[in-house]
Amino acid sequence: MASIFTKIIKGEIPSYKVAENDQFYAFLDINPNAKGHTLVVPKKEENKIFDLSEEEYSALMNFSYRVAKALEKAIPCERIGMSVVGLEVPHVHVHLIPINSMADMQFMKKEELSSEEFVSLAAQISANFK
Ligand code: AMP
Repeated sequence: MASIFTKIIKGEIPSYKVAENDQFYAFLDINPNAKGHTLVVPKKEENKIFDLSEEEYSALMNFSYRVAKALEKAIPCERIGMSVVGLEVPHVHVHLIPINSMADMQFMKKEELSSEEFVSLAAQISANFK
C-alpha cells in the first residue's frame, strides 16, 4: 500500500509544497516543532534511510542542503536542525527544522499554525529555493 507521503507526492492528499524535482518532494510538516519545519522525501518509496543506495542518500542530502539554505533565508532562527526518525511514517524523510533551542528538536513542543500561515511560510521558503 502506498505510504501517506507517496499519496502527498502524487497529489492525492494535500500538502504545503516547498520544493520539488524529479527525485524529491519537500513540504511543510503538518504538526511542526517550529515555524518552517519541512520534510524532504524521496519520491521512490523506501522505509529506512540507510536502505537507500549511497548515491540516493547523497542526492537526498544534496537536495536537503538546498532546502535548508532556503529555510535559513526565509525563516528567522538561530540555525537549521536536521533529524531523521521515521517511527511514524515508514517512508524516508529528512526533518529540517528552524531552531532557536534544543526544545525545538524534541518533537514534543508543537506549533499551532493556521492554513494561511502554512501557505505563507511555504511561499516564503519556496521563493528562496535555488
Ligand atoms: P517520523 O516518522 O517520526 O519522522 O514523523 C513523521 C512526521 O510526518 C511527523 O512530524 C508528522 O507531523 C508528519 N506528518 C504526518 N502526516 C503528515 C501530513 N499529511 N502532512 C505533513 N506532515 C505530516
